[in-house]
Amino acid sequence: MSIKNISILGSTGSIGNQTLDVIRKNPNLYRVEGLTVNKSIGKLLDQINEFKPKAVAIYDELAYENFMETVNINRSTNSNLDKLQVYKGLEGLIRIAGSKTIDILVTAVVGMIGLLPTVEAIKNSTTIALANKETLVTAGQIVMDLARKHQAKILPVDSEHSAIFQCLNGEGSNKIDKILLTASGGPFRGKSRQDLVNVSKTDALKHPNWSMGQKISIDSSTLMNKGLEVIEAKWLFDVEPEDIIVHVHPESIVHSMVQFKDSSVIAQLGCPDMRVPIQYALSYPSRLDSDFERLDLFKVASLNFQRPDLEVFPCLALAYRALREGGSTATVLNAANEVLVEFFLNDRIGFYDIPKYIEMAMDDHAFIDQPSLEDIINMDTWTRSYINKLLTSSI
Ligand code: NAD
Ligand code: MG
Repeated sequence: MSIKNISILGSTGSIGNQTLDVIRKNPNLYRVEGLTVNKSIGKLLDQINEFKPKAVAIYDELAYENFMETVNINRSTNSNLDKLQVYKGLEGLIRIAGSKTIDILVTAVVGMIGLLPTVEAIKNSTTIALANKETLVTAGQIVMDLARKHQAKILPVDSEHSAIFQCLNGEGSNKIDKILLTASGGPFRGKSRQDLVNVSKTDALKHPNWSMGQKISIDSSTLMNKGLEVIEAKWLFDVEPEDIIVHVHPESIVHSMVQFKDSSVIAQLGCPDMRVPIQYALSYPSRLDSDFERLDLFKVASLNFQRPDLEVFPCLALAYRALREGGSTATVLNAANEVLVEFFLNDRIGFYDIPKYIEMAMDDHAFIDQPSLEDIINMDTWTRSYINKLLTSSI
């Protein structure tokens, strides 16, 4: 395999760091070309010194200015900074993503802020290793159409979608009958509505099986993460909403399954470790050696599956509704959720305010059947200001 140039949007987060770990273990296969962060410039400097990228981008204005001060002071003594290109803001992310010399763009940024940079990379036919599910939720039709037009591969990093992708290997034109999408159930599995009315962000952030960024951890506690993944699965694998069946599977060993027309079910299993699907997206179609933990089914002993409770976790039902309605509804669901999770993380709203306000935004928005990219961005902006207005007048 020839050496591949990789850029990472969101290199200092959970997926970003684990991507760099895969690269660290395979220095003969991968080279880092570009990195982007929101504000974590200390961590970015460490990454620059270790991986020596050609370019970086910093989203936050103040962080960018602080970073430039450090770079200017140290340029002459640090050869890693000497020729480094530094960009800022969304434009900067787009510059990094749109470089024609990268082979794979890993989208590990959180939120729909990843949309325009991902679109830019797709236009160059760059392979996308997609972790940033919000991009597909908000603009699935546009992103997939564009990827087809430019023959850009979209390789899933999300563990469930990587599992489905692996189950489809070698299946050619055999059609999917159902996707059996597994969910750990998050920290509140088995709880009643009553139990959850007053839960805090600290309770919600305690995920039993995975260590992840804050936003996806809250999404896992509401099951919105699974809802976003149902939508992501629709776009990646072209299946109808009713053919995607969520299975709560507390052990997180079966990462998802595909049922085929002849009734056969194929599953992908493994210890919960995001580096496995990240590495597969980078090495596809090859599989690389790894020292990752091996699955010991004797130790696991039993695998359990339950139906999700949509009364306790209404966010999952809202995601199915958004998928059935199509058009602009998933954009509204996603944008409202992004804002409300932020409010919840700041202790400004309760757990069930998240689905309550998402539903209001979905009901109140001016539906567009086939939104353009511009419509999506406008709808995202409308939703954020709708939620902000609602909450600042009611808190
Ligand atoms: P995280 O919060 O740990 O990291 C987010 C990264 O994005 C950081 O590097 C941060 O600096 C950057 N970032 C945040 N806001 C930004 C902005 N406005 N502009 C530019 N950069 C910004 O998140 P994570 O857990 O790594 O998740 C990243 C994405 O991967 C999400 O879409 C998530 O749903 C998806 N994902 C994560 C996991 C996981 O195990 N963490 C699993 C599957 C999918
Ligand atoms: Mg997942």
